[in-house]
This record gives sequence, structure tokens and C-alpha cells, in this order.
Amino acid sequence: MKKSPSIFNDVIGPIMRGPSSSHTAASWRIAKMCLEMLQEPLKSAVIDFDKNGAWAPNYREQGTTLGIDGGLLGLEMTDNLMKQTEQVAAEREIAITYEVNAFKTKHVNTVRLNLKGINGKNVKALAASLGGGAFEIQELNGFEVSLRGNYYELLIFTDEEIHNFDSIKSVFPELKSISKSSYKGSSLINVKLSKTISHIALTILKEKMAVSEAVLLNPVLPVIAGNEKKVPYTTIDSLIKYSINQNYDLGKLGLIYEQSQSGLSANEVNEIMIQHVDIINKSIEIGLKGTIYNDRILPQQSHLIDKAAKAGKILNNSIVNEIIKNVSAIMESKSAMEVVVANPTAGSCGAVGGVLKAVADELKSSKDELIQAYFAAGLVGVYFANGPGFSAEEHGCQVECGASAGMAAAGIVQLFGGTAKQAIDAASMAIQNMIGLVCDPIADRVEAPCLGKNVSAAVNALSSATMVASGFNALIPLDEVISTVSSVSSQMPTCVKCTGKGGLAITKTACAIKAKLSSQMD
Ligand code: SF4
Repeated sequence: MKKSPSIFNDVIGPIMRGPSSSHTAASWRIAKMCLEMLQEPLKSAVIDFDKNGAWAPNYREQGTTLGIDGGLLGLEMTDNLMKQTEQVAAEREIAITYEVNAFKTKHVNTVRLNLKGINGKNVKALAASLGGGAFEIQELNGFEVSLRGNYYELLIFTDEEIHNFDSIKSVFPELKSISKSSYKGSSLINVKLSKTISHIALTILKEKMAVSEAVLLNPVLPVIAGNEKKVPYTTIDSLIKYSINQNYDLGKLGLIYEQSQSGLSANEVNEIMIQHVDIINKSIEIGLKGTIYNDRILPQQSHLIDKAAKAGKILNNSIVNEIIKNVSAIMESKSAMEVVVANPTAGSCGAVGGVLKAVADELKSSKDELIQAYFAAGLVGVYFANGPGFSAEEHGCQVECGASAGMAAAGIVQLFGGTAKQAIDAASMAIQNMIGLVCDPIADRVEAPCLGKNVSAAVNALSSATMVASGFNALIPLDEVISTVSSVSSQMPTCVKCTGKGGLAITKTACAIKAKLSSQMD
């Protein structure tokens, strides 16, 4: 593999509130790290987006302001106060303002943050959201950096000429990497660590070199990097060979992968997956009970399926009914700002959870079997994360609902008791059916056509898993399908990549809905 994604850091998760993982979760993580960098209570912040970037037209509607507000206010994503961040900021007398300006970026989802503390300290950062909650802080107070929230990051600012890192390495022999960046005659040394450090170590460092400031930033991702062990397979081919040699299914391979990636035990990794699956199933329950939120296009609809079935208006006892109910319930929870699991993104959070629960219920699978299905799904997501990633702004909905369809198909084959090869082939078939899918959310809300696309992804996953488990041939291997997603996205116009400038988003009706919602917000 080129990169080493983690199932929990990059595929199943973050656990979050809000409409979009790339807008809300990533921006929350960026803001949280910048606040930690400030080292004093926040007084005010000015946030701006590039006028030519993908965030400028929809940063408020898609929840970027919500994520940034929450991170800057020090709120956890699961905190109920995340539903009213503007009110919390006003109560705490913290001024957070948003602007659109022109500036140079390397990524379409780029934001600048300018924080001022109550004692006058200033932190300026430039950061990009990379899809599914992943992010990179690329600049800090003028220094080039690469902070992705997966390490303990020690930032050492110094005016001293640095010729080598020997003195730093002698204080932190366990460091995972060290790099230097220069700006206006000063240096920033970035030390990446997998464990926290003591105050004593910092005192020793200050005795050895002239440190103007040293700040330790905590990781914001669940799996800390630098504890990796060698994964016994890399390519899809080697994974299938390994599964045959060891007689392992894809669920087991997913568990082994995440254990190797995190350095955690099988039990610990299992526990984290159980926590995620419990939240997903809870979001189905909450959605079915009924949810309310003002800034929303669609009302509660998930309860309509049972009503229609009882009235004989649709098929009775069909698993499709259960899938639609579950997927809609998760999406409704998301739209009502309840806690959900991005899977692989918040926009596509309904498909995997909705269909795996429906199939597991139908098969009367055990909890452990359901957890194994999520590991199978997660491993397919890892290959996706290692390819195009999950940014709809770069690749359209084929990397959100397309990816989730592939992940879900693999999970269903796992529930069927199929082999790793069958699970991988089912993922290939399901993704093939969604190549070229555009991202065109109506009124910049991640609700429609997102709901229909999530339902389609889930039903497509079930049909693909059924076909492959019955002996149908997926023909094109999964790795070739995933690289086709990347090549097709380079042929897709920007207007259908989450910009609100193409597809259904610019229909007469969508424009009228957007105008109505805007007038309600004013
Ligand atoms: S259309 Fe797809 S990619 Fe775009 S916001 Fe909706 S779910 Fe996400």
C-alpha cells in the first residue's frame, strides 16, 4: 500500500454531529488543534475561505462553521451544545467571524484561521480538509508543517541556528520523525511522537537549546500513528492469497489489518468497533423515533415504510423495506444533528449501517458476526482511502455512496459466511455500479439526493453480494475498479463535485428550495 490508512481514522468514523465529515468533522479537528496551539483562552477568531475553493459557496449550509465553532469553543463533537454553537460563543463573549477572500491554496477545501487569545497571543493556520474527516494543517504562523492529528506533535520554536537534531533526539529517543521549517530567520522543529512526553523532558530540552516556545499538541484521531506492525498483505492479490493460505475471511483480515495498523490488541480493536456499531444502531433507533431540526429540507420519513406495509401499499416483509427504513433513520439522525458515525463519510453514513443491520436481523446474526462484517467493510474502505480517498469535492459521490456500496457489499458477504475473495468481488461489483456518480446536493444540505443515493448504495450492495455469493462474475478486480474511480473523476466537471453549481442542485425546484431556506435563516 502507498499510504497506511487506519479503519478507525480514515474509514469508519469519525463519531460526529453535522451534515458532512469533510466540512464539519475535519474543520472541528483543525479548530481543536489550533485552539490547543493558542495555549490561552480564545478571545476572537477570523476564519476565511478561498473564493475559488469548494467551501466558499456552502461553508455555512454544509456545517463548516459548526465544526469550527465547536472546535474553537472546546466542545466535543458528541456534546449536545454542538447544536447551538453560535449561542455558546455569544454567551462566552468569543467573537468568531467568517469571510471569503482570495488566497493561494493547494486543495479545494482550504481554510485559514486567525486566532487571538485573551492575553494577546496569535495563532495563524492554513489547513485543508481531505475527505471523510481527514485533514492537514499545512501552515502554522508562517511555518510549513504537516499536522494530521494522528501523532503527539511537539512544536519547538527557536531563533537558534539548527545544524542537526542530535540534542533533540537525545531527549526524545522514542520520536517517530523530526523535521525543520524556517520562516523569517526563525525555525520550527516538529517532533512526531506516539506517546505523550513529560514536563521534565521539556525542561531538559530547554537546557540544551534556546527554545522560544515549545507546545505539545495531542492527537485528535482515535488511532495514534507510529505503533504500526507489518501487515501480512498489501495488494488485493496478496490479500486474497493470504486469505486462502490461512483460511481467513475478510472480517478476520480487517481485524488483523487494524491491529497491525494501531499496535492494539484484538480485544482493544474489537471494543472500538463495538463502540462505533452501537452508535450506528442507536442512530437508527433515534431516527425511527422521530427527529426535528429547523434547517432541514426533508421531514421525518423513515416511519412511513411500516405504515405503508401495514396498509398493503407496498411489499410486506421485504428486506428492502428494512433497508430503506434503517438508511433513512440514520440520515434523519444526521440531519437533526444527532450523533452518527461517518461511514466512510457523513453524507454516506446511512448505507453501510442501514443494510448491515437489515441483513444481520434477517439472518439472526450474532453481535460478533455483525462486528466482523464491519471489519470486512472497513478493509474495503482502506483500499479506497489508499486510492482516491473520500473527498466528494475532488471525486463526486462515487467516493461517498460509491465507496459505501462497496464496503457494505463486502460486509454482507461476510454475514453470508462467504470467502474473502467473494467479499472483495462483491465490493468490486457494487462500486462498478456507481462509477461517475455526481455530487449535487440540493440547497447545499446533505439530504437530497443524498438519501436516495444512500438507499441505492445499500440495495446495490445487497444485490451485488447476492450475485457474487451465487457465483456471478464481477469481472473487473477491485483495485482496477478503484483506480477507474480516480480516472473518471478527473473527467468530471467541477460543477458536479459538491459545489452546488451543477446537476440537480441547479434545477428550478432546487433553486426555489434554496431561496426558501435562505430566507428562513435571515
Ligand atoms: S450527493 Fe453524495 S457526495 Fe454529495 S453530499 Fe450527497 S452523499 Fe455526499
